[in-house]
Amino acid sequence: MYGVLQRRQSRRVVVGGIAVGSGAPIVVQSMTNTDTADIDGTVAQVAALSRAGSELVRVTVNTAEAAAAVPHIRDRLAAKGVEVPLVGDFHFNGHRLMTQHPACAEALAKLRINPGNVGRGSKRDEQFATMIEFACRYAKPVRIGVNWGSLDAELVARMMDDNARSAEPQAAAVVTRKALVASALDSARQAEGLGLAGDRIILSCKVSGVQDLIAVYRDIAAQCDYPLHLGLTEAGMGSKGIVASTAAMGVLLQEGIGDTIRVSLTPEPRGDRTREVVVAQEILQTMGLRSFTPLVIACPGCGRTTSTFFQELADNIQTYLRAQMPLWRGNYPGVENMHVAVMGCVVNGPGESKQANIGISLPGSGENPVAPVFIDGVRVVTLKGENIAAEFQALVEQYVHTHYLPAAEGGAPDVARSH
Ligand code: SF4
Repeated sequence: MYGVLQRRQSRRVVVGGIAVGSGAPIVVQSMTNTDTADIDGTVAQVAALSRAGSELVRVTVNTAEAAAAVPHIRDRLAAKGVEVPLVGDFHFNGHRLMTQHPACAEALAKLRINPGNVGRGSKRDEQFATMIEFACRYAKPVRIGVNWGSLDAELVARMMDDNARSAEPQAAAVVTRKALVASALDSARQAEGLGLAGDRIILSCKVSGVQDLIAVYRDIAAQCDYPLHLGLTEAGMGSKGIVASTAAMGVLLQEGIGDTIRVSLTPEPRGDRTREVVVAQEILQTMGLRSFTPLVIACPGCGRTTSTFFQELADNIQTYLRAQMPLWRGNYPGVENMHVAVMGCVVNGPGESKQANIGISLPGSGENPVAPVFIDGVRVVTLKGENIAAEFQALVEQYVHTHYLPAAEGGAPDVARSH
């Protein structure tokens, strides 16, 4: 059987106007790595993440200065026309920061609370209750976000003791996974007991291992109908982080589990934070779950190509398409479904190009130095000479203008060609 299994049934939670769960499109979110007290830096990064397509952006709220900055960040973003909902990430002192800076809680679209970092002993319940009271007072949804690295130590100890006394003790790793799920569900029940509506709760149980994430989310998905935030925590850097996140989330998304996702990539030094947004979008788009940007289909190249020309063309076209999307998204409905093929030689070039909305088959070594272009399966022109790249880009642009007409000009999403 092909295709995504039916999406898991869940409640719907609305975060700053963005629906999460209950069949709503899977929401892409991201997190800043600026000091939130640095208003300029945080505004710039939130704006960049939003421009890249992040639909929710989380900021850390770890100090009084950070809490005081949040309303200013929200206002500055609004003044720039950036309406992306902000999520506040609280640990250890969230109860105190919200009490001292209620405007911070008010300015946020969602509060993230980690039940493992709320406090110890009797203080734990009291401090958790304070944060839930702020969520109720300002009608904010809450993500109860459990994390492998900060799991409630008292709960784990209790569950380990119970396990040791049981007739058939389970492996420690299994008990820990169960503790993650129990921590999230217990805290959600507690929050509802304190008056937070069930449709204001999102859960997450993040771990850093692929198989652990799959096991934990299957378990929690079967036990509740809260929307689930999906992500591998500390995914890592570069290809490892991307591959691990994709492997874990791909399995779960295929099973219909996951209502919002974040790819927790460690950026390269001075790397671009928006990479995590692009990867999250690409996971959803390549799985056929959502469309964000026209897809470029490019062959890997082989001994039949003697130059890097086609690699550069594929890269340039991809960069160009992504750069146009902030403008095109509103003006050319359906353009995000477009497929563009850039192929290296005659072996698969014409075939793949015919399958795309628009495709070019470049000449391989020993071939006639011409590049046929196919539009909607038909060979329409053959490019040659020095300006193949520029001419192909112009054809792509023309295709967009003529095939994805704005609604006001008689177009609609259903006139867009989709593959
Ligand atoms: S399309 Fe041609 S150049 Fe590209 S991988 Fe296949 S054989 Fe090699």
